[in-house]
Amino acid sequence: MENRTYTADAEPGDTVTVAGWAHEIRDLGGIAFLIVRDTTGKIQVKFEKDEMDDDLVETGVNVNRESVVQVSGAVEEEERAPTGVEIVPEDVEVVAPADPELPLDPSGKVDADISTRLDNRTLDLRMEESKAIFEIRAEVLRAVREQFRDLNCTEINTPKIVATGTEGGTELFPITYFGQEAFMNQSPQLFKQLMVGSGLERVFEIGPIFRAEEHNTPRHLNEATSIDFESAFYDHSDAMDACEAVVRAAYEGVAENCQEQLETLGYEDFEAPSGDFPRLTYEEAIERINATGELDEQLVWGDDLPTEGEHALGEEVGEHYFITDWPSEIKPFYIKDHDDDETLSTGFDLMHPSMELVSGGQREHRYDHLVAGFEQQGLDPDAFEYYTKMFKYGMPPHAGWGLGGERLVMTMLGLDNIREAVLFPRDRQRLSP
Ligand code: ATP
Ligand code: MG
Repeated sequence: MENRTYTADAEPGDTVTVAGWAHEIRDLGGIAFLIVRDTTGKIQVKFEKDEMDDDLVETGVNVNRESVVQVSGAVEEEERAPTGVEIVPEDVEVVAPADPELPLDPSGKVDADISTRLDNRTLDLRMEESKAIFEIRAEVLRAVREQFRDLNCTEINTPKIVATGTEGGTELFPITYFGQEAFMNQSPQLFKQLMVGSGLERVFEIGPIFRAEEHNTPRHLNEATSIDFESAFYDHSDAMDACEAVVRAAYEGVAENCQEQLETLGYEDFEAPSGDFPRLTYEEAIERINATGELDEQLVWGDDLPTEGEHALGEEVGEHYFITDWPSEIKPFYIKDHDDDETLSTGFDLMHPSMELVSGGQREHRYDHLVAGFEQQGLDPDAFEYYTKMFKYGMPPHAGWGLGGERLVMTMLGLDNIREAVLFPRDRQRLSP
């Protein structure tokens, strides 16, 4: 639109045309106010009924809330106005009227449950708080990309329609691909690993992963955004360093560039994590969980960490921390074991005190060991020939990780449901919008 002024830029003395939504109409009798909202904020438009053209007043005062309007006029200082200025209108146009029955109230005066909000995401995102989450999410992705660039990574995009899964068969979504069975990819794991043996060496990808998780939980989606990293000539410790740098960069970007959004969401002292993330071995982790006495049954070597255990430990540690040196048997086949102890894997998880954010590790790059691993996991190595055969042609030692994008935003902002951090979530009940 030509000559449009954002409400935040309207200065006293200017003659402007603003365009946005009719946020609120207050008719006080002789005087009435229309609050126009756009992406930058709001501005008051004042109608003095006796002094203004009747048609103009009628249009401005009778417009339905949330209609798209365009208002032209002079900007004047007015200390009683919410932003200290107001527009004295010369022209008001209803560009796109809104139905008087709104499925949810974008002014936030009437609370809506998450399901109604997600069904009407467009209207929901007219609310400052909802919008702020997605502006922060965008900043997280920007900061993360910049950090990857500082780490000399190349951004890649790998296929999401695949012939085989990697993370276990039950979580796969099957599709029909020209009459042949195919799947939505659960992880870019195998493709990103293939890149470390290519001329690219160090890569990252930000893209969707698809998991047919059976149960609705506050931290699982059926389509999530994975932030993936993989580098040649890295070991698990190098990969943890890179992971820490990326998570920290996300927090720092938000702290630096999202002050307004943080205020909207009620954060007064948002801070990037300081200091190095502690690195606990799996053995220490289960000992400390057992010592909390929070679990009915003591954990033993080889157990997965139950959610209550993660919470108990997280509360004690009180900051991001890594869990390293997992038992080989509970980490995937593509993770390398320690050279001096085959029962111990180089796999690691990065934990936020409230949940897992990242899984990573050094990868098995020796062809024979890799093929043996497939067989041990009950997978047919032939189905993965496109992957395994490249390990015969010079595959360097390498390491990497996958970070859940929504979990990063969710834990950063203390959201109690991961769906708050996704525009259009996919879960057991939700396939539309
Ligand atoms: P969890 O045990 O919490 O279900 P996972 O160990 O199955 O996670 P990984 O395969 O390790 O998940 O995936 C790496 C990261 O991707 C996880 O740490 C998490 O941040 C994110 N992630 C995985 N699955 C989901 C999902 N269904 N919804 C949202 N994020 C996910
Ligand atoms: Mg994991």
